[in-house]
Amino acid sequence: MLRIGVYICHCGRNIADKIDVKEVVEFAKSLDGVVVARDYKYMCSDPGQDLIVKDIKEYGLNRIVVAACSPNLHERTFRNACKRAGLNPFLFYMANIRELDAWVTEDRKKATEKAKRFVRAVVNRVKLQKELEVGKTKINPNVLIIGGGIAGISAALTLADAGVHVYLVEKSPSIGGNMAKFDKTFPTLDCSACILTPKMTSVKAHPNITLLTYSEVESIEGYVGNFHVKVGRLPRYVREDKCTGCYQCIEDCLYTEPIFPSEFDEGIGKRKPIHIPFPQAVPLVPQIDGNLCMWLSSRKCPRYCMEVCEPKAIDFKMKYETFEFDVGAIIVATGYKPFDPSKIPQYGYGIYDNVYTSLQIERMLSSTGPTGGEVLLKDGRKPKRVAIIHCVGSRDENYNRYCSKVCCMYSIKLAHLIKERSGAEVFNFYIDIRAAGKAYEEFYRRVLSEGVYFVRGRVAYVTDIPENEKEEKEVEKGRLIVVVEDTLLGKIRRIPVDMVVLSVGLEPSDGAEQIKRVLKLSCSADGWFAERHPKLAPVSTNTEGIFIAGCAQGPKDIPETVAQAQAAAGEVLSLIQRGEIELEPSIAYVDKEKCSGCGVCVPLCPFNAISLKMDENGKLRSEINPALCQGCGTCVAACPSKAINQNLFSREEILAEIEGLIKD
Ligand code: SF4
Ligand code: SF4
Ligand code: SF4
Ligand code: SF4
Repeated sequence: MLRIGVYICHCGRNIADKIDVKEVVEFAKSLDGVVVARDYKYMCSDPGQDLIVKDIKEYGLNRIVVAACSPNLHERTFRNACKRAGLNPFLFYMANIRELDAWVTEDRKKATEKAKRFVRAVVNRVKLQKELEVGKTKINPNVLIIGGGIAGISAALTLADAGVHVYLVEKSPSIGGNMAKFDKTFPTLDCSACILTPKMTSVKAHPNITLLTYSEVESIEGYVGNFHVKVGRLPRYVREDKCTGCYQCIEDCLYTEPIFPSEFDEGIGKRKPIHIPFPQAVPLVPQIDGNLCMWLSSRKCPRYCMEVCEPKAIDFKMKYETFEFDVGAIIVATGYKPFDPSKIPQYGYGIYDNVYTSLQIERMLSSTGPTGGEVLLKDGRKPKRVAIIHCVGSRDENYNRYCSKVCCMYSIKLAHLIKERSGAEVFNFYIDIRAAGKAYEEFYRRVLSEGVYFVRGRVAYVTDIPENEKEEKEVEKGRLIVVVEDTLLGKIRRIPVDMVVLSVGLEPSDGAEQIKRVLKLSCSADGWFAERHPKLAPVSTNTEGIFIAGCAQGPKDIPETVAQAQAAAGEVLSLIQRGEIELEPSIAYVDKEKCSGCGVCVPLCPFNAISLKMDENGKLRSEINPALCQGCGTCVAACPSKAINQNLFSREEILAEIEGLIKD
């Protein structure tokens, strides 16, 4: 016999202000099968839960309904209360009368009527619910981290130090990411390489880290606790296990001078076909560019590099290799790429010689960069005046609407460093200065006091055409002119400069698209990976066991990136240290009698949980892997034969619920 208990929560004044809870309690008492109905100020509190536990025992209740907030918040709380009282937790269900009613229905009478319908709907469906058992699966204790920038490095070291084995996969020939390109970091002006290099070498030396550089994730199958990963590694034509990083092969390459643009130096430095991207690279092993090397592209080289390599590390027979391994959790730390400013031709990037991106200036400022730390114009002179244009590609309806968060502060840092190194006058063109961070505002004030100019207004364009003959003879001749509406002075200004620096915004990295496809992760409209909840689960994704860290989730500075990477590592630790996880039983299952084997459901499952198998009578039938199914319901709705049903969301339960809602 059904014995139902109904509990209406006030949620302080959240629900009680809009809904007459006493009236709803009286209504619930009148429903068929309801033995007891009560209201309480906070049902989720300990005394609230105790009420349920006590009633289950005292009245022999075998179904529980709680009308309160969203099940996202407290479904687990009330399921546990049922469990404590010895009742199967899947004989409980929640009606959301807060978000779906009290918070959105103005009229108290209408809100109360709506709450009654919600309660009747859930009482109807809970009668049909069956006992379900939670499955358990073991968790593989290894972890995959995708991306070897500062986020991936921090997460890898945190986990490896805790005894977890980490596979760190990086698509470039070295780890380090964008941070390795910076000269100094704001606001403390610490040397970027001095902070990063020890961490990079620790990664290489750590016995718990398997580092796979120049590699990309090909495919990932499985589910939380049990992912099977395939990684492909491109041939670098130099054996990592033999190379000592002596540079001899680079010295003696057929190309006596570096003549090809260096990717690491953002195109302003040069490299040879065989090169190490930067002196602190990890691993410190050259890579041979298959398109540029005269042997690999046309067999027209005596292979000097091979001749001079004592440990015989150069191997032109190296091929694309595939590695396969299993992990229990994944952290995505794919970072960002800088906005391409040639999309805004009016700023002159790629048109005028002395228009640079902020990352190119970072490389110029670096002592290991192409100019040895000097800020120089194309002709080798020092600039007398430099313009830094903020928000290039950010806060702009035509490109990216979001704020890239770091550009204001790195522009202020660059202004300080350019002035210090070249003695130039520096003008910052800004829309707003966003200096929200520890000691950021103070750093801005410091740079202001150093005599850096700040002009408020979005730059209209950069030109090399003087305004008139008089100007041609004087200040504007042979220079770049920044044309801007100074919104504080309320007038159009033309400011002649020798160099323009474009503070480009951040965009999701190129590799993010492939990872999104492989992992079936959701992204925001701008392409950043979406977190499960911006406040309560900022490093989790909607897929159990997959976490995000750093700029993969959205623009952020280095301290925030490291904090988030360590948070993701903490979440992973808390997951894998459990040893096993519970599997939600609200999964789909197939009625083989009804299944026609049409296969409609197979490609629709976002988790590849469905396959067609031959039954004992030689007929194709759909089969669902319960470990892979996430209970999304897609296949249930799509099956033309109504052969698929889902625990806790059976057709009967859903129809009973609808009937309770619409009945007069
Ligand atoms: Fe030295 Fe050989 Fe490595 Fe080149 S490949 S850096 S020559 S060990
Ligand atoms: Fe340079 Fe020739 Fe070696 Fe290629 S094969 S890296 S061109 S020396
Ligand atoms: Fe796949 Fe169906 Fe499970 Fe959704 S409910 S995950 S479509 S098997
Ligand atoms: Fe069977 Fe339905 Fe899937 Fe078709 S859609 S294979 S009938 S379960």
